[in-house]
Amino acid sequence: MRITDVKVIVTCPGRNYVFLKIYTDVPGLYGVGEGTLNGSEPVVAEALRHIAPLLIGRDPQRIEDIWHLVYRHAYWRGGPIFAAAQAAIDFALWDIKGKQANLPVYQLLGGKARDSVMCYSHAFGKDVVETEDSARQLMEQGFKVVRCQVGVYGGAGVLGLNPPMSPGTPPEQIYEPTPYLLSVPAMFKHLREKLGNEIELFHDVHEQLSPIEAARLAKELEQYRLFFLEDPLMPEHRESWPILRAASTTPLAIGEIITSRWDCLPLFQNHWIDFIRIKPLHVGGLTEARKIMIMAEPYNVRSAFHGAADIGPVAQAASVALQSVIPNFGVQEWTRYPDATYDVVSGTCEMKSGFITPSEKPGLGIDIDEEKAAAYPYKQAWMPLVRRADGTMHVY
Ligand SMILES: [Mg+2]
Repeated sequence: MRITDVKVIVTCPGRNYVFLKIYTDVPGLYGVGEGTLNGSEPVVAEALRHIAPLLIGRDPQRIEDIWHLVYRHAYWRGGPIFAAAQAAIDFALWDIKGKQANLPVYQLLGGKARDSVMCYSHAFGKDVVETEDSARQLMEQGFKVVRCQVGVYGGAGVLGLNPPMSPGTPPEQIYEPTPYLLSVPAMFKHLREKLGNEIELFHDVHEQLSPIEAARLAKELEQYRLFFLEDPLMPEHRESWPILRAASTTPLAIGEIITSRWDCLPLFQNHWIDFIRIKPLHVGGLTEARKIMIMAEPYNVRSAFHGAADIGPVAQAASVALQSVIPNFGVQEWTRYPDATYDVVSGTCEMKSGFITPSEKPGLGIDIDEEKAAAYPYKQAWMPLVRRADGTMHVY
């Protein structure tokens, strides 16, 4: 079998996605992949167009070999752009292998270790009562784990917005850590009083704290028995993890912007974290994410795969396939896509009562309608920009 064509599809049915189709010389057999990277979609698309000629003529069944070919082709290795492009190719190859074998990808990875994958979703509000109501709605839907945020972007530390500098660019948030640090323990005090102790609750810091601020927050939240504290530090603050770890028994989760096994390994070996938030999309695909989760297993680190809406339907299906088979599963983030996405993409994973069951269709079970995708052209979108009240870019 040979690869005959590689097609990159950038579309915006409610939000931007980068999809990929890899065609073979077997009539009708092609694989679907995804390399979405929030805010940088056109850059990944260009990387894929650049790499595509290397794939033509190769045997798509040789997934491991092609992974290393793509990883090493440029001399400059790694980083989120190449990791997302590499994932798009890797997903499409697993999809081809599944279709060839007439088996869903989770079967190729070893078969189910659980019947379905437990998910969490997001409770939020402008004050603690709104957040409580939002959490109750999720609990009524069946969710056993709920992320809880209060205020703009999850914390009362956002004091306002600077207007955009030029049309089409984002406003800048004005953020201060003190109101944020005061708001989060107060939120959990309210939620535990109103919702009880059995529901699993947690909070996402979005990496907005210094190491000693994060240590203080983890310590103050210990009494509220969090499922985990998400992204309390930037991954670059490696030397500061022992300070945070020693401060409390609040479980710690990190990794949604980690793109490499080399950044995961010291977190595991030093027992600094309890949950790893990688997902196949941003570490180079299923081939690499599976290896990272195997590395995590002897260190008792469980998965909490990032699954915000920028982890599109193909990438999410790959996450769910892997989450179904690994023994060290923790939880899967769940967000519903904009309605138009379901018009363009078929086979998207369905969440029922807080759980997702992987697709039984061959491969990843997803397809992209290219005509419909073309009706939703790319729209430039940005990630939040954050400054302190005195005008300094927020350095944390
Ligand atoms: Mg997060």
